[in-house]
Amino acid sequence: DKEKKIISGALDFNDIKVREVMTKLDDVFMLELHSCLNFETIAKIAQEGYSRIPVYEETRDNIVGLLHVKDFTLLDPDDNMPVEALLKFYNHARIFCDAEETIDERFEEFRKGETHLAFVYDIVDQPDKDPIKKCIGIVTLEDIIEELVQMEIYDE
Ligand code: ADP
Repeated sequence: DKEKKIISGALDFNDIKVREVMTKLDDVFMLELHSCLNFETIAKIAQEGYSRIPVYEETRDNIVGLLHVKDFTLLDPDDNMPVEALLKFYNHARIFCDAEETIDERFEEFRKGETHLAFVYDIVDQPDKDPIKKCIGIVTLEDIIEELVQMEIYDE
């Protein structure tokens, strides 16, 4: 019976899109490429408590990199290290995914890879031009597992 539940759960899981479980760009804590890691910023990073922090340039939908909270551990706030220098030094991979991808496809990709955060993009049509990809949020393995666990609870 438990197996049946897991199987039926997996079927529902298949219908849900990344768009529905992602964290919207407006709610993402990020740093600007040209900002400096002064005391105030480092304190804010610690206070927010996220393990990964996207970096954007000028506009929030222009994602240029990703920092891990441990990248900040050896920083001296008095050095006022530019975000850009840290980003280039660690050079963590960024992965992207379509907002229309199903969460079970995304789960499989996360399972195969090392990066458990993806930038979610939408395909936006433009008059007289090719459609563009626009970043609209982030999704992590945690967002997907949370969805799966919720469904199992509703199933009981
Ligand atoms: P963390 O390890 O930082 O807690 P998780 O991968 O466990 O991150 O995700 C927990 C929730 O926080 C998810 O909903 C995820 O989308 C969101 N999240 C992760 N990083 C950030 C960030 N930098 N800003 C805002 N939300 C984030």
